[in-house]
Amino acid sequence: MTASTLPLAPATISVAGTGENAESRRSGRPIYADDFARLRAQDPGYFDWLRHVTPAAGCSRPIRLVGERLTADARTGELVGYMNTATMPDGVIYKACGNRRASVCPSCAEVYRRDAYQLIRAGLVGGKGIPATVAGHPAVFATFVAPSFGYVHMRRASKAGKQIPCRPRRHEDLCPHGIDLRCPRIHADGEKILGTPLCLDCYDHDAQVVFNHQAPELWRRTTIAIRRALTRIAREVGVQAGEFRLNFGKVAEMQRRGVVHYHVIVRLDGVSPDCPGAIVPPPSELETLDLMAAIAEAAERTRFTTAAHPRRADGWLIAWGDEGQGRYADLRPVKTSGDGDITDAMVAAYLAKYATKSTEATGHVSGRITGDLVDLYADPEGTHPERLVHAAWSLGCTKEWAGLRHWAHMLGFGGHFLTKSRRYSVTFRILRDARVIWRRTVEHDDQAEDDEETTVVISTLAYSGAGWRNTGDAMLANAAADAARSRAAYAREAMREATTF
Ligand SMILES: [Zn+2]
Ligand SMILES: [Zn+2]
Ligand SMILES: [Zn+2]
Repeated sequence: MTASTLPLAPATISVAGTGENAESRRSGRPIYADDFARLRAQDPGYFDWLRHVTPAAGCSRPIRLVGERLTADARTGELVGYMNTATMPDGVIYKACGNRRASVCPSCAEVYRRDAYQLIRAGLVGGKGIPATVAGHPAVFATFVAPSFGYVHMRRASKAGKQIPCRPRRHEDLCPHGIDLRCPRIHADGEKILGTPLCLDCYDHDAQVVFNHQAPELWRRTTIAIRRALTRIAREVGVQAGEFRLNFGKVAEMQRRGVVHYHVIVRLDGVSPDCPGAIVPPPSELETLDLMAAIAEAAERTRFTTAAHPRRADGWLIAWGDEGQGRYADLRPVKTSGDGDITDAMVAAYLAKYATKSTEATGHVSGRITGDLVDLYADPEGTHPERLVHAAWSLGCTKEWAGLRHWAHMLGFGGHFLTKSRRYSVTFRILRDARVIWRRTVEHDDQAEDDEETTVVISTLAYSGAGWRNTGDAMLANAAADAARSRAAYAREAMREATTF
């Protein structure tokens, strides 16, 4: 990153004691980010500061912590470590915000995406403590199709893969609002109109936000149905229910039209009578095709009706797919070796991509919506996202449906964007801990925590604020993180070359 690529708005922050005010007075012009950066870089403590901020350097809005931490030997009570942020550069510890969303913090989201990738991949081919034999288990990559709530502009392809018009019709197709529901255009990728309804008034915004809200429950019921279907299929080949287990790695994707749908890896495992927690191959009688049949059946049959709502006495029917098209889930076997059309790395990368997003594709991005803010985002006569937020907010008026209001900023969806069953793979926690240990061994971090079993840590670290102290600091820290990332990428590339020759 260079200074010229940053939007350099006049800085309004002044930092006491570092001379920015004096600088401004002398020159009689506003202070810019590069002024702050220059002052910081000229400071004799600059390299100490840079080392100090390294763990959070890439973060857009790090958390600042103040306080002290005592480390004592658990047996003798002897004080073995003491640190106080008052003695540190800036008097604080900077901690990366850890946000998953790329629109909030690109750097932290990238860390999250890599962890998500490792987690999903380990579930497919092993590693990180998961046995490599999982690569031989039957596994299916399933996309559960979300229903239609009205015609939207979309990119369509023929069976042969050729791009075809959005909604071509020979004759006028007028809706009750007098809008011609035809679109002869072949839309280009990334067009803003994609995902927006042909007629906003015909579109069923209520049903869509209710579907988003109920999607986690629909998924829960679907997993039960998959197990049940597979149990029946297994019996036909002489395998009992207790001899296999299903594990899932799942990512929620919010489509442009604002509907959530799930991409799931379903893996079939066996059960070891001696070691119930172990991940072992399933009985050889069960094959990938059996797993696919069970998922297809569950996707088609799982459905339920919600509780009644004052605006809809019969409730809403919640199910996958489009009844009319007969498409409920797209299923593909995951081939981890050989010449399959999808590879493990592709699947893992595909899923990890969605782990750092939420509603961005729809054009609506906000934090939790409150009564004061609702008019800013919700409008029953407004744009497609505004109508969705309005639907969630207004349907959430009763106690029973309050969840819809709570999740209005997620267009009703209150589930997690990445989830996995317990034995699918490693956890984010394990990946994070491994990274901290690596960083402390490789970089000789002098704040290394001691062995937890023999020491007691008393910490009074408290939140003092969020963000860098000024745009100059942000620029320097982010640039240092950028440089470190390129060095790491270069090292990885060099390693790869060294091992190929
Ligand atoms: Zn961050
Ligand atoms: Zn169109
Ligand atoms: Zn209409």
